[in-house]
Amino acid sequence: MKVTETIAAISTAMSDSGIGIVRISGPDAFEIADRIYKGKKTLSSQPSHTVHYGWIKDGENTIDEVLVMLMRGPHSYTGEDTVEIDCHGGVFVVRKILETVLKNGARAAEPGEFTKRAFLNGRMDLSQAEAVIDVIHSKNEYALKNSVSQLKGSVQRKISAMREEILYHTAYIESALDDPEHISLDGYGDTLVEKVEELLKELKKLIDTADNGRMMQEGIRTVIVGKPNAGKSSLLNALVGEERAIVTEIEGTTRDILEEHIQLNGVSLNIMDTAGIRKTEDVVEKIGVDRAKNQAEDADLIIFVVDSSRNLDENDFEIMEMIQDKNVIVLLNKSDLETKVTKEMIQEHLDKPMIEISAKEEEGIYELEQTVKEMFFRGEIAFNDEVYITNVRQKEALEQAFTSLKQVKRSIEDGMPEDFYTIDLMDAYEALGSITGETIGEDLVNEIFSKFCMGK
Ligand code: GDP
Repeated sequence: MKVTETIAAISTAMSDSGIGIVRISGPDAFEIADRIYKGKKTLSSQPSHTVHYGWIKDGENTIDEVLVMLMRGPHSYTGEDTVEIDCHGGVFVVRKILETVLKNGARAAEPGEFTKRAFLNGRMDLSQAEAVIDVIHSKNEYALKNSVSQLKGSVQRKISAMREEILYHTAYIESALDDPEHISLDGYGDTLVEKVEELLKELKKLIDTADNGRMMQEGIRTVIVGKPNAGKSSLLNALVGEERAIVTEIEGTTRDILEEHIQLNGVSLNIMDTAGIRKTEDVVEKIGVDRAKNQAEDADLIIFVVDSSRNLDENDFEIMEMIQDKNVIVLLNKSDLETKVTKEMIQEHLDKPMIEISAKEEEGIYELEQTVKEMFFRGEIAFNDEVYITNVRQKEALEQAFTSLKQVKRSIEDGMPEDFYTIDLMDAYEALGSITGETIGEDLVNEIFSKFCMGK
């Protein structure tokens, strides 16, 4: 694709800050910069990757004192000639500079258009482009680490290797069918089944990382359950009140459901339905149980609060029954009072990690944090060079490839003719290609980039 338009946008946040950046990319970037920049030199005659001090002018009108950075294509983010103007970061002045750039020949960039150009110019594949959004949205160190690894091409390398393998076998079969005298397919079915099984295993592993990946990216969806007065709301307050916890309130889609995002030691918890928890005093007796019922299904983690100063009752038993096969941490709350419930009593009904805490005295919170961290980051998720899928679109493509390869395996085992399953092999090849963006329609590309923020 030949890009003729030069685009520009503000690449920093629209709030008053120290520095603002206006980015210009495209064939006329340098000329446009020359028209509005006043300094010692003419920018278009300067070497790439240099920085120049000067002023931005709109006709006779001086707008701001700036530093201008020059990057010639293909050695820039977009792969095109790019100019970045660093100016003072007031919303008004940055806007004014953008207006001047637009007046002098650039078009306002759409959200994500710089990254889209990087993709179209072959500077990155689609999985890397998507990683760019994820880096921007990362809420914790694990998420960031994973996004950066994708940005460096970890997903792309893995997918490309699988695609090459599939292509090799498809090509072999096709050549053998074209030239049966010289290339034999005797026994090839067995080899292929073996190969396909390996690929299926690898795909399955990647698909399985998707849920863990989402947890890293968005936070662990957590539900606090327990009978009324067990101390759920006190626990929430203790967690939220922690100095090291960063809390943001996220409006949910359903009225009255409020999610609170809490960061504990780099682990993100999204505590769901905190509005419901905080309201319990004036609501009927069974609300704790009902909430557990409704939300246990969707939760990644359930924190079950037991009032250890009162005997276990029907409510407790009902909840325990319900959360048997979930990720659960049991908190024996009110450890500062005389206790009537022991770990052993609970263990008879529910075999999960247990911690004695006092939400009121804020004791045991550290152990809770450690347990969460261990459950999710030592057990299920290993932080090495593994590739994690964090993106729903990518996961769906992997599942599609998985289904097609399963079909290949079945066809071979059923003794179907070769040309029958080369179609499924190619389907898997295409599905994987959509992850890296090699086999993907323009509509989908546009949709993906429209999710980007302005100026990226
Ligand atoms: P919820 O209905 O489960 O949300 O329970 P609350 O958090 O509203 O707590 C119910 C009552 O138990 C309140 O009076 C709290 O002050 C009290 N409470 C909560 N946690 C503790 C604790 O660790 N120790 C003591 N002594 N009281 C607690």
